Amino acid sequence: MENDFVKEITSKTEDFSQWYVDVILKTELADYSPVRGCMVIRPYGYALWENIQKLLDDRLKATGHKNAYFPLFIPESLLQKESEHVEGFAPEVAWVTHGGDEELAERLAVRPTSETIICNMYSKWIKSWRDLPVLINQWCNVVRWEKSTKPFLRTAEFLWQEGHTAHRTDTEAEEETLRILDIYQDLVEKDLSLPVIKGVKSESEKFAGALKTYTIEALMGDGRALQAGTSHNLGQHFAKAYDITYLDTDGQLKYVWQTSWGVTTRLIGAIVMVHGDDRGLKLPPVIAPIQAILVPILGKQKETVLAKADEILAQLKDDIRIEIDSRDEYTPGWKFNEWEMRGVPVRIEIGPKDIQKHQVVLVRRDTGEKYFVDESELLPRLKELLDDIQNNMFLQAKKFMDDNIRETDNFEEFREIIEAKRGFIKSHWCGSPDCEKHIKEQTGATLRCIPFSEELNTGKCIICGKESNTTAYFAKSY
Ligand code: AMP
Ligand code: ZN
Repeated sequence: MENDFVKEITSKTEDFSQWYVDVILKTELADYSPVRGCMVIRPYGYALWENIQKLLDDRLKATGHKNAYFPLFIPESLLQKESEHVEGFAPEVAWVTHGGDEELAERLAVRPTSETIICNMYSKWIKSWRDLPVLINQWCNVVRWEKSTKPFLRTAEFLWQEGHTAHRTDTEAEEETLRILDIYQDLVEKDLSLPVIKGVKSESEKFAGALKTYTIEALMGDGRALQAGTSHNLGQHFAKAYDITYLDTDGQLKYVWQTSWGVTTRLIGAIVMVHGDDRGLKLPPVIAPIQAILVPILGKQKETVLAKADEILAQLKDDIRIEIDSRDEYTPGWKFNEWEMRGVPVRIEIGPKDIQKHQVVLVRRDTGEKYFVDESELLPRLKELLDDIQNNMFLQAKKFMDDNIRETDNFEEFREIIEAKRGFIKSHWCGSPDCEKHIKEQTGATLRCIPFSEELNTGKCIICGKESNTTAYFAKSY
């Protein structure tokens, strides 16, 4: 496929879409593959995913969840039990029809998500109130036959975690749904430095089969929104379809209340789109595969410099993810560009003059600032700097998002904003699916979420003019 070597990264302002693809290919996060809509995640991208995985997995385990693994294939009859769910996913399901040369008696779906197979097992495992809650998570791949795809953001096969829980009461299920949403927000804002808006989806945008879908929405560098993660309160829809009941303390047989939730490799696309610039990637230190790159300035005193560099490496490597670039065939300038492009948060330079002065040079990727640091203070200063970069990247992204949230209850103005600037638009909305649909058809913007923390301010629905105390965020999205 279009696997040409990217010579230069296209300018972000000139062509955002091409810039995005150039960055991903040139920094070796991922590559196109011969399979439609499927990408290869290369080691640098996979290391990023592993870091994200670990940080989320720790949070999930700390809140009582356990990992398990369910089959990749789902028999057609199982998939069809919950009608809204099957209707929503049918257009995106890939089917296995043959085993070798033989046609299967029943088609197998390649999982687009695993509610159906997991519910089937839960109906077997859950018998009594003592069995609840069930808090299971699975890390796996899923397949959705997407019409149009883009590396990381929307691929036909993607990696994710999917949590599936069962509870005794609807209150517990709702609490779990929101707890996970908070965990997602914490992960994405603290570790990925990506600010999000939290809220609930409208009926027409919610997950197929859910009672309610909660979402975190991020804003990409070109002003388009991205659904960065979702947490669903499934109510009893699946429990009834798959017959998941338990005997309660009062001797009655009751249906469980369920949740499901997921974040995916899409998050890597968000990191690229929000933080990246014309020079390439910019990675938040907490998840960067390499946090600091040590570039010895070789030359006549090569041996001395290399010895010192090795000493520094040994001193830091237990505390920081650090690598050394002592390749002889490239100039320091070339290496600086290379590691900046790859988004490494800090560059450490050491040359003969620095050795004389017992100092090292630190250069940060986010602002380009340079610091001369006494050798004896290197580790604490470096840690401080990484924290500061992490924080600064969040603040920069937050400022961009805040600057791109506009409020209007005037539809003409709404239209102009969407055409000229994009970003989020906050408007009053009466709750009618018709008004929501009108906005989508007329402007291409969708209802991203209805925020929680709304001071009740009444106004008039941007479409029909009816009194409303609900505001919603709208945006063009990926
Ligand atoms: P869902 O199970 O539909 O709620 O999806 C969970 C999350 O997966 C969504 O919130 C998106 O962030 C993400 N997602 C959905 N479709 C794709 C896709 N084709 N590629 C990558 N990520 C996706
Ligand atoms: Zn209306």
